[in-house]
Amino acid sequence: MTVLLYKMNESEKLFKKALKLIPGGVNSPVRAFGSVGGHPFFTEKAKNASITTIDGRELIDFVCSWGPAIHGHNHPTILNAINDALVKGTSFGTPNPYEVEMAEIITQAISSIEKVRMVNSGTEATMSCIRLARGYTQRDKIVKFAGCYHGHVDSLLVKAGSGALTFGNPDSAGIPKSYAGETLVLPFNDFDAIELAFINHGEKIAAVILEPYPANNGLILPQPGFLNKLRNLCDKYGSVLIFDEVISGFRISYGGVQEKENIKPDLTALGKIIGGGLPVGAFGGKAEIMDNLAPQGPVYQAGTLSGNPLALAAGIAAVNLLKILNPYDNLERAVKKLKGYILEAADEKGIPLQIPQAGSVFCMIFTEKPIKSLNDVTASNTGLFKPLFHYALTNGVYLPPSAYEVCFTSTAHNEEILEKATEVIVAGIKAL
Ligand SMILES: *Cc1c(COP(=O)(O)O)cnc(C)c1O
Repeated sequence: MTVLLYKMNESEKLFKKALKLIPGGVNSPVRAFGSVGGHPFFTEKAKNASITTIDGRELIDFVCSWGPAIHGHNHPTILNAINDALVKGTSFGTPNPYEVEMAEIITQAISSIEKVRMVNSGTEATMSCIRLARGYTQRDKIVKFAGCYHGHVDSLLVKAGSGALTFGNPDSAGIPKSYAGETLVLPFNDFDAIELAFINHGEKIAAVILEPYPANNGLILPQPGFLNKLRNLCDKYGSVLIFDEVISGFRISYGGVQEKENIKPDLTALGKIIGGGLPVGAFGGKAEIMDNLAPQGPVYQAGTLSGNPLALAAGIAAVNLLKILNPYDNLERAVKKLKGYILEAADEKGIPLQIPQAGSVFCMIFTEKPIKSLNDVTASNTGLFKPLFHYALTNGVYLPPSAYEVCFTSTAHNEEILEKATEVIVAGIKAL
């Protein structure tokens, strides 16, 4: 099919200006629509399940700010919490009561976290986990998995080397090869590769870091026993197991993937939802490890705005709402329904489509094979996603602007809204 063209004149004008002032016109690459083509729109405001562009178009939002907006946009409870904090001051540079309240909430929600420190982004959280694991174990090597994204941390922006058991190469300019050379990149769900990696390098491995449900390159779910295998190997070799739950924390269940799968990592990175829409990250875990952080221990970590009262007020409100509402079953059921209709449409059309789902997270991947690793995702036909994306956008539904990014829903995505969105996506599939 030909891509339907929508006109968003105000957005186009502003993007032209942005291109002159901001590299690529955006402050985070995927926002530039590079992989779907066309120009990004600019958002004027967002409320519940919708965002409104500066051109006045209202779109049903399946990006949800890339995960944080699990209550939809601008939830009144979160707004009120920010307002209450705002009148007291925006930043103090001293301890404040919100920090202790948030630490209590996180440690009660996630039993593997005995102590926690707040930071300002998910990237800071994973970066700090890596440094802490290295400081604690006094080892340098890191194991990560292809397809897992952990923010733009030097030692984690690494792609696999020439063989499964060779150390990695930088996945960005500006990262020293020697740095990347400390990181081993393995295929997710590959039991043999991780076993071999530990046999060959176990005594040098400081940490294994992973998204327990990798959700940054499609959605890859762990095979039964895989997470357990990692737990056991880390125990055997004295390596630190780090779950990056920046997306999945408080989204897959209140206690994250680790609660759902009943596996306790040593350290956990959090972000996104726990900021209630403001910039926040956190990392925490066993007290024995966390106590290595300055000022108590030798691992340095700090932040001028860490524990910011506005961000924590928003985050506390967002997380408390999740505890009260316990929306997880409903969120999962709603996505299952939507998924059923989309799969049916693809089937009728004879288009191979997989829709891996974990609760309110899902991804449409045009391929015949079930998704078990990054290779299964990259083997898909992204040529089918682009026209679907543009069809949806033209008709009022904002899907993530990349075939490899997951869709998120929120408690604001009610039945009526999801029915409307389903109709559009189904029509988009039929039009392919
Ligand atoms: C978003 C994300 C990060 C990075 O968080 P930022 O706040 O963007 O720095 C890290 N890990 C995972 C799994 C993420 O999805």
